[in-house]
Amino acid sequence: MQEKWKSIEKEYTDSPDLIITPQAEMKFYTTWKIGGRVIALVDVLKSTILQSFLLKMKDFNCPWKILGRGSNVLVHDHGFPGVVVRLTGENAEMKYLGNHRIESGAGVALSHLVSFALSHGLGGFEFLVGVPGTVGGAVRINAGCFGQEISHFIHEILVMDTNGHIGWLKRENIDFFYRGSSLEKEKVIILKVIFSLFSEKPECIRNNVRRYSLLRKQFQPVGWPSAGCVFKNPPGDYAARIIEQMGFKGLRTGFAQISEKHSNFIINRGSATAHDVMYLMDWIRKEVQRERNIFLENEIEVWQ
Ligand SMILES: Cc1cc2nc3c(=O)[nH]c(=O)nc-3n(C[C@H](O)[C@H](O)[C@H](O)COP(=O)(O)OP(=O)(O)OC[C@H]3O[C@@H](n4cnc5c(N)ncnc54)[C@H](O)[C@@H]3O)c2cc1C
Repeated sequence: MQEKWKSIEKEYTDSPDLIITPQAEMKFYTTWKIGGRVIALVDVLKSTILQSFLLKMKDFNCPWKILGRGSNVLVHDHGFPGVVVRLTGENAEMKYLGNHRIESGAGVALSHLVSFALSHGLGGFEFLVGVPGTVGGAVRINAGCFGQEISHFIHEILVMDTNGHIGWLKRENIDFFYRGSSLEKEKVIILKVIFSLFSEKPECIRNNVRRYSLLRKQFQPVGWPSAGCVFKNPPGDYAARIIEQMGFKGLRTGFAQISEKHSNFIINRGSATAHDVMYLMDWIRKEVQRERNIFLENEIEVWQ
């Protein structure tokens, strides 16, 4: 794989629109601060370069994945034997289109999106405060909290397929569900998203932001490296409640610990490994299945 990658890398060494970090350690690019090396981390500034790059990767049969803030992924301690691509430059910008609509690049941090909406007197995104992801990652998994989901505000999405074709997808042609979307199956890269919000008094938006931030501080272990909830909620119940009822709060393996504040968070208390986290997750899943006959499905994605 390294040989194949060297041939691809050579073609882009002088390009100002593609920044390559060879042998990047993923623990520096994920919120869990866990993960081994990948062949390279590639930051792409323009969609045109991304098109040619993806075609090259396809020609050479080189595996790749797209990364936002790495706040919903667990990268294995051995890393991932491929290339990790991030969107920046023209796909990390925001524009107010008028008529309560914002166009946002997929690489924009959700915290910036929340502030941008506030600065234009647009309400709706307050529930996203404290979610440390990007627009692309959030749309792909239909991020949600406090009874709301990002898909409620999507109007259209600009995507690129694995052949480099770009096109707009209307909201009604995409299937969004609890922590997922049909975009996953279609294997498309989200480049830009047009959101449709509503007019709101800035004071009211600020109050909502404060309220949601306080709730997160009260009920989540903010401050510790994590990837948020590790399991999806099973139908009609909460994974956190089940794990807490089983008495697993605070259990640890190595430096990975089931949070004492929120039982569906596994925190990294220092130098936790992906192995530690997976061990805890497998153990919880087995015990819950045995005691309650409930299967807990991963919310986080494992890269290996
Ligand atoms: C403290 C904390 C709190 C959290 N709270 C919440 C919460 O309330 N609700 C919630 O839903 N989640 C929550 N999360 C999880 C996570 O932050 C969100 O799911 C977030 O939306 C993931 O975005 P990301 O950019 O980090 O995606 P990543 O983790 O980088 O990627 C997630 C998936 O999206 C794909 N992806 C990323 N960008 C693109 C793109 N441009 N095109 C196509 N696919 C792409 C990746 O390949 C991967 O499959 C929390 C996490 C933490 C650490």
